[in-house]
Amino acid sequence: PGRLAGKRAFCTAAGQGIGRATALAFAAEGAEVVATDINDAALAELARHDGVTARRLDVRDSAAVEALARELGPVDVLFNCAGFVHHGSVLDCSEADWDLAFDLNVKSMYRTIKALLPAMLEQGGGSIVNIASMASSIKGIPLRFAYGASKAAVIGLTRSVAADFVGRGVRCNCICPGTVESPSLEQRIAAFDDPVAARKAFIARQPMGRLGRPEEIAEMAVYLASDAAAFVTGTAMVIDGGLGI
Ligand code: NAD
Repeated sequence: PGRLAGKRAFCTAAGQGIGRATALAFAAEGAEVVATDINDAALAELARHDGVTARRLDVRDSAAVEALARELGPVDVLFNCAGFVHHGSVLDCSEADWDLAFDLNVKSMYRTIKALLPAMLEQGGGSIVNIASMASSIKGIPLRFAYGASKAAVIGLTRSVAADFVGRGVRCNCICPGTVESPSLEQRIAAFDDPVAARKAFIARQPMGRLGRPEEIAEMAVYLASDAAAFVTGTAMVIDGGLGI
């Protein structure tokens, strides 16, 4: 049997990158996966995989999150992956940029946890896994002002939830990746004046000399979601190719 056999898992931003790799890894480990995103083409592709139910969900829409949570009932695993990179320093960051970073990267997690936690508690427990980043309270990374602030908040949110529910069977952890190959990273690289140099710079800041793969992050998410991690809560797990050395 898979490491997540018999578990129901709910994933946000599962359309591509780390979210997609994790939703598919959860399903491969035997979980019944509800994979959500706002990209309909990506959802149609996800729906073709065994063990995956694809549903449209905008994590910025509180009413939609609450409605889907009511419809689904209890889940064992909540994987919060939605996030967006604002590129720039404080001087480049408008109030709208700041608000988007915090709404999509942090408040989305407040929404899903608030909606799904009551049923999780009623059934006796579960595992919440949030995607933070090395660009957070762990490390200051140039031109990641709003992003780094929002991902630091994800670490704080994670520890708060872990503290409040540690006695009631709910574990809450976050994952702090270094730079990972994904469609949005490709877009960010393509947006530079010199994309070849930009890619080299992203790779150069990884001491291992390569970018991470979404499947490598998914492996850590499977661990945290599974009963193998029964003694693990409130942690910010680093998986970064040596970025933090
Ligand atoms: P990505 O950025 O390529 O894909 C993001 C997905 O989020 C897309 O499928 C998109 O449709 C979806 N999305 C956007 N807005 C949404 C909304 N309002 N509601 C629901 N879904 C929405 O994927 P990625 O680069 O693997 O990033 C995934 C997560 O990992 C993010 O939180 C990101 O900050 C974090 N992260 C990424 C890296 C990296 O280098 N790629 C490093 C550290 C952390």
